[in-house]
Amino acid sequence: MSRAFNFSAGPAALPESVLVQVRDELLEWKGERASVMEVSHRGQAFIDCAAEAERDLRELMGVPEDYAVLFLQGGASLQFSMVPMNLLSAQASADYIVTGAWSQKAVKEAKRVGGVKIAASTEGENFARIPRQEELKLDPNAAYVHYTTNNTIFGTEFHYIPDVGSVPLVADTSSDMFSGPMDVSKFGLIYAGAQKNLAPAGLTLVIVRDDLLKRTPSSLPTMLQYGVHVENKSMYNTPPTYAVYIAGLVFEWLLAQGGVKAIEKKNIAKAALLYDYLDTTEFYRAPARKIDRSRMNVRFHLHDESLDSEFLVGAKAAGMDQLKGHRAVGGMRASIYNAMPREGVEALVAFMEEFRRRHA
Ligand SMILES: *Cc1c(COP(=O)(O)O)cnc(C)c1O
Repeated sequence: MSRAFNFSAGPAALPESVLVQVRDELLEWKGERASVMEVSHRGQAFIDCAAEAERDLRELMGVPEDYAVLFLQGGASLQFSMVPMNLLSAQASADYIVTGAWSQKAVKEAKRVGGVKIAASTEGENFARIPRQEELKLDPNAAYVHYTTNNTIFGTEFHYIPDVGSVPLVADTSSDMFSGPMDVSKFGLIYAGAQKNLAPAGLTLVIVRDDLLKRTPSSLPTMLQYGVHVENKSMYNTPPTYAVYIAGLVFEWLLAQGGVKAIEKKNIAKAALLYDYLDTTEFYRAPARKIDRSRMNVRFHLHDESLDSEFLVGAKAAGMDQLKGHRAVGGMRASIYNAMPREGVEALVAFMEEFRRRHA
């Protein structure tokens, strides 16, 4: 058996060359005569490894000097809480743009901490689209504006950065970070669970502008304070060393591909291949509004849902795995993150067309 094209939404496919290097270094890493998993995070080898990962990340995303990069744990879901706990007070309120299930979860946690105003929501349209800038009802006194750059479940993506004036912009970029360039200077804080487009599960990335660190109430538990992690270079406690190591290899891989600009080109082409095919047939339908379509998570439904399981079984037999849509929306979802080669998308389109012909 060989490896399938893996369309999982997360934990998702990693670049094969990275996995090969991980395998080759599994028992003895960097002359340590031990696995990277078995050495101290306080040792020079790992300190160097984490520092290099941060350097490469900064280079890839053009992170300005006045931003800290953190390697944390707890997933994007803990950031739903850490963001308001650090940046919002009980008397203040924050604006939330609601474009899917993850935005809703972020709102739920923020409400435990302080006020929340919904700047826009597309729930009434089953989250099939992204609100336009003109639709955003922004409070100039908001503590921050929070939004989800890519809606992993609903298959929509912001193709613009909301203009929020001088209010800090906070983004959950779990499923599209590193898929293309991003002007970090437009944000107050960016976070992402690593398991979609970067590394194995267990690592959470946070990029936060220095001035926001002053807002944290001193009563907050130590582990929840961004400032503590900044001061300790993400080593206040034991970081997820194995995941940081792999993230570092993925950064190297991204740089070798020509950086995020080059990767974006490939991602646009991969997504176009699939959407262009979907647009040629009524046999399949893609619910996301065209201009808001995600380049990372392509959601589609078979016109006849009774064929769903046959489609999935057939795809698996043809070497394509994990195409089942999220349980909240059903249908299919092809997650085509950075690590998905173009050949995987070509194989999927060929299979879909062959399946359609068989059932037309
Ligand atoms: C997967 C996902 C999350 C949740 O991430 P965890 O790391 O599992 O907490 C949050 N936001 C978005 C956009 C996601 O895709």
